Amino acid sequence: MSLIVVGSMAFDAIETPFGKSDKIVGGAATYIAWCASNFCKVNQISVVGGDFPQTELDALSARGVSFEGLQIKKDEKSFFWSGKYHLDMNSRDTLVTELNVLANFTPVVPESYQDCEFLMLGNLDPNVQRSVIEQLKTKPKLIVLDTMNFWMDIMLDELKKTISMVDVLMVNDSEARQLSGDYSLVRAAKKIMAMGPKYLIIKKGEHGALLFHENNVFYAPALPLEEVFDPTGAGDTFAGGFIGHLAKTNDISFENMKTAIIVGSAMASYCVEKFGTERLREISQNDIKERLNQFVQLSNFDIALV
Ligand code: AMP
Repeated sequence: MSLIVVGSMAFDAIETPFGKSDKIVGGAATYIAWCASNFCKVNQISVVGGDFPQTELDALSARGVSFEGLQIKKDEKSFFWSGKYHLDMNSRDTLVTELNVLANFTPVVPESYQDCEFLMLGNLDPNVQRSVIEQLKTKPKLIVLDTMNFWMDIMLDELKKTISMVDVLMVNDSEARQLSGDYSLVRAAKKIMAMGPKYLIIKKGEHGALLFHENNVFYAPALPLEEVFDPTGAGDTFAGGFIGHLAKTNDISFENMKTAIIVGSAMASYCVEKFGTERLREISQNDIKERLNQFVQLSNFDIALV
């Protein structure tokens, strides 16, 4: 099955307690595309400036990513984001957000994308995300939305409108608390699902992720890694693995979503091993299988219940 990915393609500058990157290629939709293209055909919707490297687009095209929905604004600059991680590598401060081309982005869904069954709305202005949903002539089988505190701070009402139209929402724990106004993640999940999404994923960085649906909850651990180099894009890579697996298997049952969040966690564990998208570019299908096996071993145990 094929997938539409909407989101930023950008330049990032990252600071961690252990190092600093120059301006490197990033963006939510870039990470999602690198990851999801391991599993299914990806149709990208985004916008970049004339400064965005053609070599990056060529490398993704070689993996079957379609750029018919990419707008290139030759005389403008690409979106730029800079962040600095705290010592725990889980929390970070945004230092700079320069919207540039994203400021006036009006996405256009190409005719050839119309029959896609899966839609991944990566982190972006909620009005832009909603406009893609509204342009689709038939509702996709599954719509997944990722967002962040930035949009909660500046356009909460618009974000809530978009949230009401999707099947799965992905946020991190502090964003779930901000969105619901509740500290308990279980109560927060109930309040957020009442806003529309039938499924909610709460990402907890190195502490894994929770999947909520009705009264069910499933927990996926994160792989304990000796060294986390750069957590940027881990959430987007997780999203790409999650929806990529669902699109590959064409099965949106709760049971298969459990597998999908393990796939997302496995892919995210690769992402953080190097700066930017570097590690995602290197890994093979065998690497993915190997890491999935590590996840199976991580929490597999026998217990005799009396
Ligand atoms: P993550 O670490 O998964 O939360 O995603 C980090 C990526 O999101 C970076 O590559 C940024 O370029 C991108 N990003 C950060 N802020 C925004 C924003 N406000 N809108 C769109 N993309 C963003």
